[in-house]
Amino acid sequence: MTGKLDKVVTRRDFLNQVGKVGGAVAVYGAMDSLGLLGGSMFASASSFNAPKKSDLVMANKIGKKVVILGAGIAGLASAYELSKAGYDVHILEARDRTGGRNWTVRGGTEETEINGVKQVAKFEKGQYMNAGPARIPQHHVTIDYCRELGVELEVFTNANEAAYYYQENAGPLSNTKIRKREIKADTRGYVAELLTKAANQTSLDENLTSQDIERLTAYLTRDGALNSSKKYTGSSYRGYTELPGAGLKPGTIGAPHKFNHILESGMMNYFSSEYSFDQQMLMFQPVGGMDSIPKALEAKLPGKITFGAEIQEIRQTADGTRVVYTIKGKTKEMTGDYCICTIPLSVLKNIPADFTPEMNNAIKSINYATTGKIAFQFKNRFWETEDRIMGGMTTTNMDINQIWYPSYGYLSKKGVVIGYYNFGQAAVNLGNMSIAQREKHALAQGAKIHKSYTSEFENSFSVAWHKIKYNEGGWASYSASDLKNYYPTLNEPQGRIYLAGEHLSYMTGWMSGAFESARIAVTQIHERTLKETNTKVKVG
Ligand SMILES: Cc1cc2nc3c(=O)[nH]c(=O)nc-3n(C[C@H](O)[C@H](O)[C@H](O)COP(=O)(O)OP(=O)(O)OC[C@H]3O[C@@H](n4cnc5c(N)ncnc54)[C@H](O)[C@@H]3O)c2cc1C
Repeated sequence: MTGKLDKVVTRRDFLNQVGKVGGAVAVYGAMDSLGLLGGSMFASASSFNAPKKSDLVMANKIGKKVVILGAGIAGLASAYELSKAGYDVHILEARDRTGGRNWTVRGGTEETEINGVKQVAKFEKGQYMNAGPARIPQHHVTIDYCRELGVELEVFTNANEAAYYYQENAGPLSNTKIRKREIKADTRGYVAELLTKAANQTSLDENLTSQDIERLTAYLTRDGALNSSKKYTGSSYRGYTELPGAGLKPGTIGAPHKFNHILESGMMNYFSSEYSFDQQMLMFQPVGGMDSIPKALEAKLPGKITFGAEIQEIRQTADGTRVVYTIKGKTKEMTGDYCICTIPLSVLKNIPADFTPEMNNAIKSINYATTGKIAFQFKNRFWETEDRIMGGMTTTNMDINQIWYPSYGYLSKKGVVIGYYNFGQAAVNLGNMSIAQREKHALAQGAKIHKSYTSEFENSFSVAWHKIKYNEGGWASYSASDLKNYYPTLNEPQGRIYLAGEHLSYMTGWMSGAFESARIAVTQIHERTLKETNTKVKVG
């Protein structure tokens, strides 16, 4: 497991990998060693002491100018916190919208990937795809910003026992869609049966008293639904082949799958992803699309954002910062007392900047995860009517990886399903296909699970994040050695230039990382401003 951690891994890949090799203990140990466990997250989320306007007034520093590069979550949150405290903020954003990776695609959304053809989304009114972030864990600071900004939330169904596992080339259970609840109940049942046997062997006497063994056996019997002989023969946990009903219908419980078939299928290796700290239910999404969050922040910053402004140079001056950008074919400059740069490292590495060689080296050394999504609009919600799946996701070892059923619009007619959300080589392979080939490939794989997939299909929109201009990747993917060798440098300001963004956090690939890194940059700038005498810094 440690060998794997030395390699570049994304959070998701990492959890998948440790889940495969070592189960829950390995996940815990690995997360602990990377500082991904919850304790520190709660501490950092609650320890933010927002800069106060009264501090600036007392220090006679109202109106210090901070130029912010990028209007994603980190840039918007920085501008929001600083402007509340009396700073003069301005955001320069290359795109014509806020949000960055927080991007909700609706009918009419246009995108041209790097070296790619243009796509225009054809989703009907009310239908949408969250092309980037789609779910928010309860403990993330993102929830606090939603509360403060009045962003309405609803439950995002991240785990649904009614959805399927579907594996290919994985033994006798291959090419069969199997409800998640069946595989989970059967695995727990067989493991409970084995543990009950082990618990009653004398070797365990050293660790457990006879009363402990009795209690453990009682727990395993209940958890695995074992019969009076402590055998697993199936249970209602796994569902019914005929549901219980009124009158003379007691229901029929299905026969369990064979344990060695489940083990060969590898389906049990997916369980741990649902237990991982950031993936546990309940999870949430903003009503109407994830971009409600950047839109709410944007509404707090009227006149403070210049769109279509592409940063070309980031410079330090004697007492501040100077940024060169192009807008509508013209080159312009903006100076400030400070600059917060939230441009992803994958893009920043190609922008000339007054950084130390050590910083430049750190910026170009960090890999970004490859990831992609496709959304399908279907004429009818057959997953609800034919399969009785209300949200959640089907998991497969095909290169579509997952199918996500929408957590909004239940029981209505149409719906937008995520037809793949994949990572690593699968994302590269599908991303390298033409738009039409991606659609065909993902439809063909999904049709192995849902018979109505092709007949109900209406239109699609796909995103290969490594080919999206101004991002060129999903999220920063730090190896253990990157965290040791480069991460501390990235966290150090360069003169009056501060970096912020999800890449400046231990929550890469989450909006909370962007929010919390913005809070750090804002705090550092505020503390520095209060410390410096008025004569030292020229007010911009
Ligand atoms: C596929 C996917 C799924 C995800 N799922 C989740 C999820 O479920 N939940 C969750 O919380 N998070 C999720 N995330 C992570 C989340 O989207 C990010 O962590 C967060 O949005 C990053 O915000 P940021 O401000 O750091 O960067 P960005 O959003 O990338 O913002 C950077 C900004 O800089 C701008 N910019 C770039 N270059 C220039 C330039 N030269 N000049 C001017 N401006 C420039 C960009 O246009 C952009 O607006 C997901 C991300 C992806 C890609």
